[in-house]
Amino acid sequence: MIQKPKGTRDILPEEIYKWQYIEKKIQELFKNYGYKEIRVPVFENTELFQRGVGDTTDVVQKEMYTFDDKGGRSITLRPEGTAGVVRAYIENGMASKQSPIKMFYNMAMYRYENVQKGRLREFHQIGAEVFGTASYMADVESITMANEIFKILNIPNVELTINSIGCPTCRAEYQKVLKKFLEKNIDKYCYTCQTRFEKNPMRILDCKEEKCKELNMGAPIILDYLCDECKNHFENVKKLLTEIGIDYKIDPGIVRGLDYYTKTVFEFISKEEGYTVLAGGRYDGLVEELGGKQTPALGFALGMERIVEIYEKYNKENLVKEENPKLYIAGIGEKANTLATILVKKLRENGVNVQKDIVERSIKAQFKYADKIGAKYVLTIGEDEINNNKAKLKNMETGEETEIELDVENIQKHIEI
Ligand code: ATP
Ligand code: MG
Repeated sequence: MIQKPKGTRDILPEEIYKWQYIEKKIQELFKNYGYKEIRVPVFENTELFQRGVGDTTDVVQKEMYTFDDKGGRSITLRPEGTAGVVRAYIENGMASKQSPIKMFYNMAMYRYENVQKGRLREFHQIGAEVFGTASYMADVESITMANEIFKILNIPNVELTINSIGCPTCRAEYQKVLKKFLEKNIDKYCYTCQTRFEKNPMRILDCKEEKCKELNMGAPIILDYLCDECKNHFENVKKLLTEIGIDYKIDPGIVRGLDYYTKTVFEFISKEEGYTVLAGGRYDGLVEELGGKQTPALGFALGMERIVEIYEKYNKENLVKEENPKLYIAGIGEKANTLATILVKKLRENGVNVQKDIVERSIKAQFKYADKIGAKYVLTIGEDEINNNKAKLKNMETGEETEIELDVENIQKHIEI
């Protein structure tokens, strides 16, 4: 038997309703914040991610699915959503529209990861990006929207942590100090960290290796080196968050795994699970880096697999239920079958979830099946019923039976009480 590739999973019909419920709730929320959906290609030219995500990041150096297509172009399956959305923003001339431009996506991502709990090679992210605003109020609105997700899904124990990683101006000064700190022990760091020392020393602070994490303890923090503008921006973000009652913790250790971030970065961490479910930040340099005009922007992405897992955990009692059929029409004989076919067709056109036999089961087996799929009512049609134009409608929950007339409006009226 051919098995699925490592790090992928099937989302089965039995569980998909939870995904759909969560996606719908999040999309409704985003809509109220003025976001519209965008869908971008699964694959892009490799250069987009090298330049966008950054060629000294783990994502680009270790995790991308990159291949040459038959035309000899280097292609990469998207490892994240922002770079593609930014490319689309530039390529479609969205900069000329009224800002801010708010877009969200719901897409599969591909990363060659060490597969473990909550870490897959194909996974799904919902993300939200806003372009064309440098204001701290945009940061706060984005964080507020993210925070709201956990409220509407009834997911407690998620902690918001924020940090500022400054801009190229303050980073220049900081990197000098950081390099001095790292230099002393640089030969003790992992190979990857050593290669990043010259090009991008801040990346070393995001290394997941235990020995590097230990060596990083006591490293200078960028918060102490922010320029006036970045400091001011961060103060305003914190102040407004406090004023509107959103709790946060400052974690100077957040540097994020993608190079494009500037100023505010944030993560929502599930305290019990110990993993980040949603992460994002400002990326004021990215549009320009990818060939557009200088455009301040920011966004976040949440991991669907992780959200579904914790949603289930905290909503055991009142987990959204799968929608069962309202009605099953059981038929005996060819004529009844024809009538049943016509009735279900019309009812379905009217938006009713109604099922009938399509495997030629006996009437007894049809009833059994209707029970198994959780049909709320069963309508039984035979020769007599056709002649009298009346049939018995059984409420499967109460066992109560009513004789009703066999026209679509009437059936619908009885099952929708
Ligand atoms: P980490 O440091 O944990 O690797 P990251 O910086 O790579 O995280 P992002 O790229 O910002 O994470 O992704 C945002 C969110 O997407 C994560 O918080 C997580 O919920 C989800 N996510 C990221 N990678 C994976 C994966 N391999 N499998 C499942 N979900 C993931
Ligand atoms: Mg990662």
